[in-house]
Amino acid sequence: MGLIRLCRKKSPWLIHFNTGGCAGCDIELVAALTPRYDLERFGIQLRGSPRHADILVVTGPITRQAKDRIIRIYEQMPEPKSVIAIGSCPASGSVYHDCYNVVWPLDKHVPVSAYVPGCPPKPEAMIYGILKVLGKV
Ligand code: SF4
Repeated sequence: MGLIRLCRKKSPWLIHFNTGGCAGCDIELVAALTPRYDLERFGIQLRGSPRHADILVVTGPITRQAKDRIIRIYEQMPEPKSVIAIGSCPASGSVYHDCYNVVWPLDKHVPVSAYVPGCPPKPEAMIYGILKVLGKV
């Protein structure tokens, strides 16, 4: 079991969930995954299934509709697992702050290991947040 945990820490896989924000954070996250910023050098890859993912990356405002999906994705992920909230939207609602259907912050619904602030944050900040969660920096 210890070996499996070590391997997963050395090669964590991400699943990305966009709640329907402006897509600014998503563009920056995609940039972080490209060879320019090269997130893969840390063994980090984007995956499509929550059952294969170690870290859930959430972008966009937490709407009532998205909240239930985030909880479902989180419950499908194997232990140990982490959640990283990218951008100001999951933390404070950002430009969607006062919308009737936005229920921020994200940690009211699932445990969050790190918030990466910014609107949108730079790819460097996202990489720093992910590595911070992994205890690599
Ligand atoms: S934090 Fe800013 S850039 Fe990111 S999804 Fe929200 S409004 Fe868009």
